Amino acid sequence: MSEKRSNFPLPLSSVTGPGTRKPAERAPIATPQTATQNARSNSQGAGAARTTVQPPPGPSGPAKSQAQPQTQTALQRSDLMATEAPRRAMAQRVARQGVKDPQVLSALETVPRHLFLEPAMSAQAYADISLPIGHNQTISQPYIVARMIELLRGRGHPLRRVLEIGTGCGYQAAVLSCVAQEVYSIERIKPLHELAKANLRPLRIANLRLQYGDGMLGLPQVAPFDAIILAAAGLEVPRALLEQMAIGARLVAPLGAQVQHLQRIIRTGTSEWTSETLEACHFVPLRPGTA
Ligand code: SAH
Repeated sequence: MSEKRSNFPLPLSSVTGPGTRKPAERAPIATPQTATQNARSNSQGAGAARTTVQPPPGPSGPAKSQAQPQTQTALQRSDLMATEAPRRAMAQRVARQGVKDPQVLSALETVPRHLFLEPAMSAQAYADISLPIGHNQTISQPYIVARMIELLRGRGHPLRRVLEIGTGCGYQAAVLSCVAQEVYSIERIKPLHELAKANLRPLRIANLRLQYGDGMLGLPQVAPFDAIILAAAGLEVPRALLEQMAIGARLVAPLGAQVQHLQRIIRTGTSEWTSETLEACHFVPLRPGTA
């Protein structure tokens, strides 16, 4: 990709709230699913990413103890430069896997995924794998993030207001914020909501709002949405989310239990929706309520 978008750092953040990133305080990681396997099988080599990614300093290193925003910015800038090549390589790999939308690929190339991971995992940040983020949850595979956003965008479908269910560590929300005018993202696990806020704060993304709550209820006070994306798999799409789609809006969600497939739903009328079942995928479960 030759077209360069320098989206980070962006104008003053709307990702608000106090607190700094403290990886050491996160709950112990115990993932039941692919992320743990991924982490293990890739610890011996994650292709191009391993040779070039500079892991950010650990929790007790200088970056974490610096209180001066200016110093932080300088550190981030060098961090961003150091990961430029692996980010580009990752976007190119995803393109070879079939994602065609140049804006989505550019967004993938822009967002520094290593900032969303524990320092111990950052060497694997640009491999195409899901990885544990604590609380039995995972950061999604870059390919699936890109694929789902591409499905939301379609040909010329404008993404003005987008809702994401399952903020997790905030990575996909950051990618979405590069291709949509306004992004709202809901997370049901409080410590992950806080983690996402801390991860996103240095990126200063002005068009992203994070919400703690049950995403199965959507965000009626902000609806209707042009697009809704679910980062967790249920057996069906919650009715509230279907109702919060604008006419013509798209929703992409993984559906199923053991066997899951991506489903794309388009609202074609006040009480009409069409749906198509697409490729197989593997996501953590969509759960009701908050934790
Ligand atoms: N978007 C993330 C993926 C996070 S994993 C990324 O960028 O990689 C999926 C997330 O969905 C988990 O954090 C999980 O807690 C959350 N989740 C599951 N059910 C939810 C619900 N009903 N409302 C909001 N979040 C939910």
